[in-house]
Amino acid sequence: MTAAGREPLEEAVRAAVGAVVDPELRQPISTMDMLREIRVDEDATAHVGIALTVIGCPMSDRIAADVDAAARAVPGIRDAEVALTVMNPDERMALVERLRGSRASHTVGFGAGSRTRVIAVTSGKGGVGKSTVTANLAVALARRGLRVGLVDLDVHGFSIPGLMGLVDDAGRAPHPTRIDDMILPPVAYDVKTISIGMFLREQDAGRAVAWRGPLLHRTVQQFLTDVHFGDLDVLLLDMPPGTGDIAITVGQLLPNAGVLVVTTPQPAAVDVAVRSGQVARQTGQSVIGVVENMAPLTMPDGTVLDLFGTGGGARAARALSHEGDEVALLGSIPLSPALRAAGDAGTPIVAADPEDPAAVQLTALAAALAPRRRGAVNLGSTGLSPSDQTPSAR
Ligand code: ADP
Repeated sequence: MTAAGREPLEEAVRAAVGAVVDPELRQPISTMDMLREIRVDEDATAHVGIALTVIGCPMSDRIAADVDAAARAVPGIRDAEVALTVMNPDERMALVERLRGSRASHTVGFGAGSRTRVIAVTSGKGGVGKSTVTANLAVALARRGLRVGLVDLDVHGFSIPGLMGLVDDAGRAPHPTRIDDMILPPVAYDVKTISIGMFLREQDAGRAVAWRGPLLHRTVQQFLTDVHFGDLDVLLLDMPPGTGDIAITVGQLLPNAGVLVVTTPQPAAVDVAVRSGQVARQTGQSVIGVVENMAPLTMPDGTVLDLFGTGGGARAARALSHEGDEVALLGSIPLSPALRAAGDAGTPIVAADPEDPAAVQLTALAAALAPRRRGAVNLGSTGLSPSDQTPSAR
């Protein structure tokens, strides 16, 4: 093959491998200056050089495999050899700057003026299914084509990595990749997910409950500044239950967040859930609605299992409503053994079994809360009956 004959092939290989998407940065590698030498030799072997962001980047094998496959798929190419190198500090810094875009370093990316819809999911007490609802909501929103980020701030529980299938066999969450001081959130079910559990060393994990205000404040601030989510349509925050330091910090850093209150139908859960909604209001956040979880389950024989009673969600919504600021019950999710099992397996039910009654309700909840994708068409009906819909579900 002549040199002149190889030139168009090299261009074709460049285009093909440049379109490979970095699994963590979620952008084509060509836009991140990761492409190095691209050469096709006489026997139609493509030699492709790729500069990774960091040494031992956990995704390097996948990038290499994707690049190799992309090069081999180019018509006329018979073989491919991929050489991985690493960016030098200047190249890396330039990339970090570009990824940050106009946002200065060490500022919170989703504060006032941001076009991302920020939803803080809270509850009065633990165990009501707040994290389960949040994880499923995130996945359901991503399945609607929205760009979704999920931040697990539940220092006492950090169950999000497990619910999203982001743990190893020992139940440990991965350490996220860093490019200098930029942290890349692992992606699961198309949701960019970061958890406080990913930053704890094993010996600290049991101590997290004892963390005090200033450390928590700093940690939350770091989450919201150093984690590179890119442009998002929705950011979900899994808040710790109750009305503690983190709720106040988030209220300060993200005054534009809307609070979604999760409760079971049980009076004891409702009372504390209402209180957490009221505290959110005191920090300037709006309450965008109530979700009732663990609602009665209709059994195959038609009998109804109402383990935690009925009507608590509607009661919480009424208690949080004021003249001119109505808070609606946005969804009622039944008890579901399948949902529980899917959560334990790290396969959120809205993806694993969308027909399950709890999954149907969670998907409808996502529809009710979905912002319109910027530049996209209306995403259609919410799936809730008209009486369930609310003008306050902004
Ligand atoms: P929280 O975040 O409020 O502490 P979790 O989401 O961790 O609560 O849920 C607590 C437990 O309840 C988990 O084992 C979860 O699988 C289970 N669970 C949550 N919602 C339901 C439901 N609708 N039906 C059955 N089990 C549920």
